[in-house]
Amino acid sequence: MAKGMSLFNTLTRSVESLRPADDSRTLHIYSCGPTVYRYVHIGNLRTFLLSDLVVRAARYAGFDVYHVMNITDVGHLADEVFERGEDKILLAADSEGKSPAEIAHFYEAAFFEDIAAIGITKADLYPKASEHIPQMIQVIQKLLDRGHAYLSGGNVYFDVTTLPEYGKLSGNTLDALRAGHRGHSYDPNKRHPEDFLLWRKATPRRLVKFDSPWGEGFPGWHIECSAMSLHHLGERIDIHTGGQDLIFPHHEDEIAQTVGVTGKHVVKTWVHGAHLSMGGHKMAKSKFNDLRAVQICERGIDPLAFRYLCLTARYRKQLNFSWDALGAAARALTRLRDRFEEAASETSLNQESIDTCELSPMAVEYEARFTEAVWDDLDTPRALEIVHRMLEDANLDRSEKVSLALRWDRVLGIGLLHFAREKFQAAGEGHRQDITDSEIRSLISQRQAARERRDFQTADRIRNELESHGIQLTDTPKGTVWRTKKKL
Ligand code: AMP
Ligand code: ZN
Repeated sequence: MAKGMSLFNTLTRSVESLRPADDSRTLHIYSCGPTVYRYVHIGNLRTFLLSDLVVRAARYAGFDVYHVMNITDVGHLADEVFERGEDKILLAADSEGKSPAEIAHFYEAAFFEDIAAIGITKADLYPKASEHIPQMIQVIQKLLDRGHAYLSGGNVYFDVTTLPEYGKLSGNTLDALRAGHRGHSYDPNKRHPEDFLLWRKATPRRLVKFDSPWGEGFPGWHIECSAMSLHHLGERIDIHTGGQDLIFPHHEDEIAQTVGVTGKHVVKTWVHGAHLSMGGHKMAKSKFNDLRAVQICERGIDPLAFRYLCLTARYRKQLNFSWDALGAAARALTRLRDRFEEAASETSLNQESIDTCELSPMAVEYEARFTEAVWDDLDTPRALEIVHRMLEDANLDRSEKVSLALRWDRVLGIGLLHFAREKFQAAGEGHRQDITDSEIRSLISQRQAARERRDFQTADRIRNELESHGIQLTDTPKGTVWRTKKKL
């Protein structure tokens, strides 16, 4: 396996090289996903793109990846909102005249459309909070049993004073947090102002509520990620991603819960993306400066230009969105594609030969520089510069240019593979799409595991996903075999 990919770990505040925690080949990646009571905006998409980039880069580095992203569909947001007892799904249900489940389904579908528009590879699994209430109750019960939580006023709270390390991720000390609370009114049921809700008693108007050992109520936001990540990835998560606003309190509280219940640090590397802003302010629905991917399309701009724009900034740097900046990104992307298509139109490279094309020492050098940039904490601005330079280099052979660009597009996802696929299909090739052998093998073994635990829904989803990549599976007594579907 290739070595060398590194990422900045918020927990240790340093760039660390990436290795699966044990000797397994598979990286477990968990990403905080969307809240589905409203459309995701392109700020959210920047963060989802970061997870996509981490996954693509890890696969490029030779790791197998199992990626889980949660869907928050139980109607709460940040703690302050939550503690005021507002039910966002309820508010949306009131204003849209739909049931909470209808609202969640509607916005979940919109989320999948938006991520597809900017070329985000789907995660392996999208667990929904509403379908994991028993797992959350189990974690809360264990926290109560171990003395990390207490029941007060019908709610269950996490007692942050039981974990001396509380605050390590965000750099907040309990003293500093206390000072911050001074003068503010806070929930009188709490023992300490910094304690947070694990379970909240439902008010009479609450629509989304569940039975629990503590009465009818609903879970805190943070518990969902602890319970679902432990349930689906076990006590070893190599990378956890999210936007930087989630560092505190969401991820700090997730660590507290998970350490409280398992007695150990489960997440090795915490990766946080900086925000997308517009007009100098963080993009947010509440600030009325939010934009959807569809608004980019409505202006006749390829949504992948937004992806390209995001790649021009390192993920840890704030990026300011403007239509001018997007226009410049669209022009740069067109220039790059034109160069690529020029080279591709005169080569007879096919899908299978992308990886086997023999490279000159100069092409090998380009490959090394690109890889180094991606591995260096995802230095995508540098990687893009290398793509442009490589495609413009008159000393390189056309087929090597195409081969390199297509390999790199597995990381960048800027549509070169899509263009090439159409060309290969036109030439009568099988239409296998944008997936490596190791990804196929990994999906087949995930499907096998799902079948063994009789989770046929997941097994079917994996089969469909492979089919969408042009891969046909056949189950034989000796196991599952695959082949590339031929063009009809
Ligand atoms: P939410 O649906 O509000 O939980 O947000 C989903 C993801 O988007 C989280 O990881 C947030 O950190 C991230 N996010 C929210 N606003 C922005 C923004 N303006 N720029 C980048 N990421 C954001
Ligand atoms: Zn989360």
